[in-house]
Amino acid sequence: MRNYFKLGVLGVLGFLGVLASCNKKPAGMERPAFCSDSAYVYVQKQLAFGPRVPNSAAHTQCAVWLIEQLRACGAEVELQKGQMPDFRGNNQQIYNIIGHFSTPEIATRPRILLGAHYDTRPWCDEELEYENRFYNVPGANDGASGVAVLLEVARQLGLVMADTTAAHKLSAPVDIIFFDCEDSGSPKLYTGQEREDTWCLGSQLWATNYVQKGQPQYQYGIILDMIGAPDAVFPLEMYSSQYAENYQLKIWRAAEKLGYGSMFSNQHSYPITDDHYYINEIAGIPCVDVIHYDMRNATGFPSWWHTRQDDIRNISKTSLQAVGEVVMSQL
Ligand SMILES: [Zn+2]
Repeated sequence: MRNYFKLGVLGVLGFLGVLASCNKKPAGMERPAFCSDSAYVYVQKQLAFGPRVPNSAAHTQCAVWLIEQLRACGAEVELQKGQMPDFRGNNQQIYNIIGHFSTPEIATRPRILLGAHYDTRPWCDEELEYENRFYNVPGANDGASGVAVLLEVARQLGLVMADTTAAHKLSAPVDIIFFDCEDSGSPKLYTGQEREDTWCLGSQLWATNYVQKGQPQYQYGIILDMIGAPDAVFPLEMYSSQYAENYQLKIWRAAEKLGYGSMFSNQHSYPITDDHYYINEIAGIPCVDVIHYDMRNATGFPSWWHTRQDDIRNISKTSLQAVGEVVMSQL
């Protein structure tokens, strides 16, 4: 994503054991659970593919795995393909992955959109050392963390839909969208003519298609991006305030009630061009960005942002748990 006010590019066995331990819900609990052990494993799994850089084998393998995971959770899965111009103006193939969760009783109600980007940045262009800038970003936070939380949300939705006796029922259909090509915007290293809108290609494609088709209807959306660091702080992002303030405040109030008020900070950040921007601007769906923003840094983002340091050491189960519970509280 890009910071609007900054120049340039600122802008399986063990696993089953984890899942089994997560599926024991405390008696009387009405809200479906969220299990950060499981989300953490989903981060590890994505990292094991290697950087999910568009046009790479790791990217394709991850996409196939995400489709399988959503299907296993009971979603009806749609692979949206298309092309968008990249920062050089060349056609970039886009693969957005959409999981539809619904039951017959609620199928016609306006939907809730949950999204995260699954691609990772091809360049570590925030590295100080020139030679380090040519590596791919590992993308533990920038990519994998949001996807991992939504995969665990998907698993919990699957459990809720499968259990007809569950106290908690889905109140609205949910679409979980893994957007492609969020993070291939013009690199700092690029000396050619800079193009507008080179970030968030997947969400731009999705939003444009949505406007052409017009259906289904959405209440609102939530985007998760860079949400898993131990010191994660999510200020009130300004585009979200501009387009979707009611929903933003509702989510932040829910976070406070759950005891995560210091993480979901009431400070405001600069506007950030992330996937939510195009969902708001093109699709006209109110959409809120939950994104780690650090005012202490010149870039506005954490020090590991777009560097080789964005690896598993950067992921905290506590942060995954907080974000997961806040998202589940809205469903
Ligand atoms: Zn990024």
